[in-house]
Amino acid sequence: MSDENAGALAGKKGLVVGIANESSIAYACARDFAAQGAALAVTYLNDKAEPHVRPLAEGLGADIIVPCDVREPGQLEAVYEAIEQRWGRLDFLLHAIAFAPREDLHGRVVDASREGFLTAMDVSCHSFIRMARLAEPLMSEGGCLMTVSFYGAEKVVANYNLMGPVKAALESTVKYLAAELGPRGIRVHALSPGPLKTRAASGIARFDELMEQAAERAPRHQLADISDVGATAAFLVGDRARSLTGNVTYVDCGYHIVG
Ligand code: NAD
Repeated sequence: MSDENAGALAGKKGLVVGIANESSIAYACARDFAAQGAALAVTYLNDKAEPHVRPLAEGLGADIIVPCDVREPGQLEAVYEAIEQRWGRLDFLLHAIAFAPREDLHGRVVDASREGFLTAMDVSCHSFIRMARLAEPLMSEGGCLMTVSFYGAEKVVANYNLMGPVKAALESTVKYLAAELGPRGIRVHALSPGPLKTRAASGIARFDELMEQAAERAPRHQLADISDVGATAAFLVGDRARSLTGNVTYVDCGYHIVG
């Protein structure tokens, strides 16, 4: 991060959901938010994830570190209760989570099971709606909601399979939430990074080929990294981006214009 941005998020309180390890997109975003002065609430998936996430969150000076599996009834609500008690308000949140059962993710969309489809939609899309609903009363002075999509929402990307329709729903959700919450001063964004080597990405078949192809074809002939995504996220949640909402912001060295 360049010094010119230091303090750009001073006084802001942000919730980050989606850190699994230091390769996570959410971690790079949280690092940039913290470097620019934001106070953070960070969640971890479960007991198994906690030893990996807690040291990272503590390293960023997070005020709140709590569990959150969006499939567990009451856990998301408990996160917001902790935020209300500690801060009494929220300025921004990052939703950087996705999941699809392996069998459905590796098969054709035509063959997707009802259960697999609903699980993928629940964890990867409806959880963003729930997070927005819980955030709304805490954002009485406005705020910013951000999620993470992929180009496979828009065009057919080999092996992205079921996550394509799920991310398409997520991007449409961003637009509807932006329209509904805009009058309250709440902005809504999707980041759309190019392929990045993370734990979630390792679930997608032949992901290395996708990375190679994206690097080769992107106008800049390289891939963005998670720090690039973090820098963009920090800009979008800040006041300098006050007139931006409802966008899908690509952080992919231009791959989407040729992909
Ligand atoms: P990651 O594995 O580091 O993060 C995924 C996170 O989802 C993990 O922290 C995991 O705990 C969380 N998660 C899964 N199920 C959950 C549940 N039930 N409740 C709460 N959290 C749950 O991988 P990542 O690549 O950083 O993924 C973050 C987001 O970025 C995802 O939405 C992914 O689809 C998106 N994305 C990734 C890429 C890429 O190439 N890696 C590209 C574009 C978009």
